[in-house]
Amino acid sequence: MSQPTSTAFDVAVLGGGVMGCTTALFLARAGMRVAVIERDALCRGASGVNAGTLTLHMTRAALVPYAIRAWKMWMNTDTWLGHGVLATSAPGLSLAFTESEKALLQQRAAARREYGAQIDLLDRDAALAVEPGLNPAMLQAAYCATDGFASAYLTGRAFHAALHEAGVHVFEQTPVTRIERVAGMYRVYGPNDSIRIDATRLVMAGGVWLEPLLAMLGFRIPVKTLVNQLIVTERMPPVMRSVLSIANGLLSMKQFANGSVLIGGGWQGIGDREQGSVETVPDNLIGNLRLAQHVIPALAKARVARIWLGLEAETADAMPMIGALPGSPDAWVIGCVHSGYTSGPYMGKLLAQAMLGEEPELPLFDPARLVVHDDAPAQLHREKTE
Ligand SMILES: Cc1cc2nc3c(=O)[nH]c(=O)nc-3n(C[C@H](O)[C@H](O)[C@H](O)COP(=O)(O)OP(=O)(O)OC[C@H]3O[C@@H](n4cnc5c(N)ncnc54)[C@H](O)[C@@H]3O)c2cc1C
Repeated sequence: MSQPTSTAFDVAVLGGGVMGCTTALFLARAGMRVAVIERDALCRGASGVNAGTLTLHMTRAALVPYAIRAWKMWMNTDTWLGHGVLATSAPGLSLAFTESEKALLQQRAAARREYGAQIDLLDRDAALAVEPGLNPAMLQAAYCATDGFASAYLTGRAFHAALHEAGVHVFEQTPVTRIERVAGMYRVYGPNDSIRIDATRLVMAGGVWLEPLLAMLGFRIPVKTLVNQLIVTERMPPVMRSVLSIANGLLSMKQFANGSVLIGGGWQGIGDREQGSVETVPDNLIGNLRLAQHVIPALAKARVARIWLGLEAETADAMPMIGALPGSPDAWVIGCVHSGYTSGPYMGKLLAQAMLGEEPELPLFDPARLVVHDDAPAQLHREKTE
């Protein structure tokens, strides 16, 4: 690995997930000299292990305008990334099986429509026409034509090539351990100060590790870690052609072109972001599988091929932090975006616009609101917004 200790970059992006990589890409394309510093390999964190659902149904309502634009970016990677992630457009159906789920479904659809999502309510027969394999016990569905999915494991490969072509200097296997301010620059250090990288601007893009990364700059911003479990089946004949979820949000499911079905929905495992260890909770896997089979009865024949877990970040108010860090010149943060794979590319583009001195197309999400001051308890209480 090269060590440009004497080279100063215009920007050092700390964290090479979808947020850091897209920000880096747009900054480099605008002429900045950019370094991405990643502890592992690019997009091996949440951005490489997520379920790849590109969805408006599951996106928080206020983030729908961002997700709509990002969805278009994923479907047109040729125009801005140059490398694909097998993004596939498919209708999205969110389902209700009980009267209370029906009320929730209607409320969620209305909230998202208010922010521009084209979501229509379908009765049972209309939903069965879209997805004949559904359990006919379903009462109602919300339908969105512009959902879809990608193969998240391809994200790192795609960004690696794109960043290379844009001239971004990528430091992999390089954990950042401390940051200093030296002569108006940020100096970023690796373990035992073996690596030293200077940059005029900093972008903190560390996913669930944003809390310890931000602490290196003296900020106390609690970041909650969600430990999501995912299940993939062996290949099977076609059993669904849409992206399926249910109103309470506990299921997401789609079938890839190779026949395997990916099942998720945020059922939690056990994990520790400091140690990096994760462990499954078998009851939650079983609950997730039961729900999947309830929705698509043909899944009774499915055999589980593999399960895995990944860490997702959430702020105290469950809204993103994207913007300038208060009182730290030229230091920026991006992360904690709900359904962040869906919205990631557009969020990175917006942050790059702000850093380039342009007016971002849509508003950012001021991190100042999340800073805990020394006299306040660092309590992570979540005020859920639609
Ligand atoms: C299992 C799972 C399923 C999901 N499913 C979906 C879905 O279907 N659809 C959807 O839209 N969203 C989904 N998400 C959410 C989505 O994956 C995330 O919101 C998004 O990928 C976050 O991107 P990021 O760049 O902020 O974080 P990450 O991808 O986690 O990237 C952060 C990077 O920072 C690096 N880093 C941290 N600390 C340091 C350090 N000190 N030095 C150097 N590098 C460091 C990490 O190694 C990591 O690579 C899912 C998440 C999970 C975990």
